[in-house]
Amino acid sequence: METPTWLRPSSLPFLQQCPEYTGSAQTPAAMDGTAQHAALAACLANSPEKDMLMADLTPGGHEAVTWAAQHVQSIAQGAKIETERRVSLTLPNGMVISGTVDNMHVDAGVLYLSDFKRGEYADCRPQLAAYAVGLMQELGYKTATAQILYGRTRHIDEFEVGLDDALARLSGMVQEISDGRADDPARGIPSDACTYCGHAATCPALAGVAMAVVRGIDVGLETFDPISMRKPETIAKALAAATVLDKWSKAVRERAKSLAQSGTPIPGYAISEAKGKPTITDISAACHRLGLDPDEFLGCCNVAIGKLAVAVAEKNGQTLAVARAFIDEKIADLIQRGAPSVSLRKSK
Ligand code: SF4
Repeated sequence: METPTWLRPSSLPFLQQCPEYTGSAQTPAAMDGTAQHAALAACLANSPEKDMLMADLTPGGHEAVTWAAQHVQSIAQGAKIETERRVSLTLPNGMVISGTVDNMHVDAGVLYLSDFKRGEYADCRPQLAAYAVGLMQELGYKTATAQILYGRTRHIDEFEVGLDDALARLSGMVQEISDGRADDPARGIPSDACTYCGHAATCPALAGVAMAVVRGIDVGLETFDPISMRKPETIAKALAAATVLDKWSKAVRERAKSLAQSGTPIPGYAISEAKGKPTITDISAACHRLGLDPDEFLGCCNVAIGKLAVAVAEKNGQTLAVARAFIDEKIADLIQRGAPSVSLRKSK
């Protein structure tokens, strides 16, 4: 039986929310997740690129991947870890669904698999269950232990997967999704899945939610038509509406967070705390304890030029503008900039 191209284990968490979900949008979050996955695989395989890939991560991503790598190695207890392993599962109707599980190993006759997630955004158990079933079918196991490693919150969701039970559940789920899918985004169900959906920019169902708000904003966008989203004039109007919606959604999130923090439960949501950004308070002591000389240590640090300007201004009794000019004059040749970022600003 032919498998539709949109059906993959990694899409199951989103297809459960919206049967019209398609592929992954190349959002900054998705690209960050891809970079973290590559770094984790390189760390676990101890490949020569691991330092380079780790160095490219954000500080939060670096910490999350380090945590995940240490965890996977600790549960493997020296057993061989296979990373980025292709898996195919066959449903009772003959449909074959393929994907790639992040990590797997076998220890004392028990099959373990784990998948790393950058953030917590959907019920990912069906995805892991699909990988587990594929591995069990291939390797002849009846049960497996699956773990979802949520990097940002350091939360581990561990559960057992039984072959027959999981296969029956997945089969029912795939049938339900297939029955509900019309290959028409207009019939989509706006949800968390939209963040990662390739249809997001042109999806009439998602735009319908925004349009209800947009109609009250005077940006000249009365109706939504996916085709017209290719025209610069329409995109400009939609961008004006998106800016207002951004502010509204930020305000809603802040309000919900402050209510939850003050003890008011928000149905379906829970407060989750991530570690704060680390700073080293005594560089000499850190160098001494780590056995690094100051140049080696400073080679791992980033300097915030804005903070440096404040420190120089305070030290020399200068204004910030004078301090910035002073920094440029003295150390411009020592300042290296990363790749430029691109953004769209409203012209005056
Ligand atoms: S963008 Fe549209 S098709 Fe995609 S998940 Fe959202 S509602 Fe569904």
